[in-house]
Amino acid sequence: MPYVKEVFEYLKRTSPSQTEFYQAAQEVLESLRPLMAKYPKYTQHKIIERIVEPERQILFRVNWLDDNGVIQVNKGFRIEFNSALGPYKGGLRFHPSVNAGVIKFLGFEQIFKNALTGLQIGGGKGGSDFNPKGKSDNEIMRFCQAFMSELFRHIGANTDVPAGDIGVGGREIGYMFGMYKKLANKYEGAFTGKSLKWGGSLARTEATGYGTVYFAKYMLEDRGETLEGKRCVVSGSGNVAIYTIEKLYQLGALPITCSDSNGMIYDEAGIDLGLLKDLKEVKRVRLSEYVKYVPTAKYTPIEAYPEGTNAVYNVPCFAAFPSATQNELNITDAKNLLASGCICVSEGANMPTTHEAMELFIEAKICYGPGKAANAGGVATSQLEMAQNAAKITWSFEEVDAKLAQIMKDIYINSSTTAAEFGEPTNLVLGANIAGFRKVADAMIEQGLV
Ligand code: NDP
Repeated sequence: MPYVKEVFEYLKRTSPSQTEFYQAAQEVLESLRPLMAKYPKYTQHKIIERIVEPERQILFRVNWLDDNGVIQVNKGFRIEFNSALGPYKGGLRFHPSVNAGVIKFLGFEQIFKNALTGLQIGGGKGGSDFNPKGKSDNEIMRFCQAFMSELFRHIGANTDVPAGDIGVGGREIGYMFGMYKKLANKYEGAFTGKSLKWGGSLARTEATGYGTVYFAKYMLEDRGETLEGKRCVVSGSGNVAIYTIEKLYQLGALPITCSDSNGMIYDEAGIDLGLLKDLKEVKRVRLSEYVKYVPTAKYTPIEAYPEGTNAVYNVPCFAAFPSATQNELNITDAKNLLASGCICVSEGANMPTTHEAMELFIEAKICYGPGKAANAGGVATSQLEMAQNAAKITWSFEEVDAKLAQIMKDIYINSSTTAAEFGEPTNLVLGANIAGFRKVADAMIEQGLV
């Protein structure tokens, strides 16, 4: 596939400095070599050249007034990447690190993740470099309204359906939906992750974390292993991390770490989930507060992490659940995990593992679930929310959770059988990338050159 190199050259020339996007594209394109060699139709239809180019990119200015009456200006993004399988679908991220390259990598991953769910959803992503930390509730509301005053014209229940991501939870979705409803004059499922009081789905809040643990369970089952009684490390302390910890407890495992961007908690007795929820979902304070309530736990500030490592992955464990952000687990962390006996890594975050670390996991043949497969439960349940909104019905928590577990099982089976079909049965990166790509590519061919 000599032209993969040419596609990279083209991306670097036309989209300069988008390093995260090149990393995500490289991982997918390299996995596709055996598929492209076997099926010339994908080359004939120039699917690779077409799929790396978003269908539409919306960049906009967001003006808002802070509590001191001072004008603030942020950048807004929405990348509508691919609609071959359904309306664009993917979250919004509010974080100072957001730029065009970050949103593009997330949108690109989303295309294949959404395809893997087997549901009718295309790929998109958006966000802003707005930093929600330290902002008052009124400032959050004013920012969300300003953001939506532009985005509303581009989204809709059958066009593009945003959801949450880093820095965007139930509160932000509420403010954005309120503004959407006012400007569009439509009460429709243009967002997922909505409150249960006005159109949300039971189990959507829990879905990404629960799904990541289900994925680990299915990977381990195939090797005759379970999570029961096992020490697990989790990074992050947001939506994905919290519900990963909750499901780990439900399956009898012992989650012993969590983290935020300032440091990490190691609680040998197991993370106190009720306390964590109270600190993060109610009080909205830093994780360092945890040790005030549990003096036996250890807090390590990020400045004290051994150089070049993430201290979460220095803790010996059976399984690891990276649930914070991209490239948080590097080659040294991967070596530390393997040396401590870790045999399972299930990614709740998007692309948390660097390219070299990912290659090491694949080579070591551990149970390695890449984010686009392992964390697809969130977007899958978002689609279940869309289905309930469209039919104006509500399913019970148990119904949604059962559907989520089945979807995660199907994603695992699809990824592992595809990996086996191409001669590397334990390589779920290969399997997930090919399975996701094939579904989108076939749809693009059947829908013609549009
Ligand atoms: P939240 O905002 O709820 O939580 C993010 C957590 O990660 C926080 O603890 C945050 O710490 C930490 N974090 C963020 N950036 C960094 C950083 N640069 N270094 C260290 N820690 C960091 O987000 P989510 O839990 O929703 O998302 C976490 C990951 O999961 C992301 O990669 C997201 O794309 C992915 N994901 C989320 C889905 C969802 O449904 N929410 C679906 C699929 C994937 P702090 O508070 O200090 O910033």
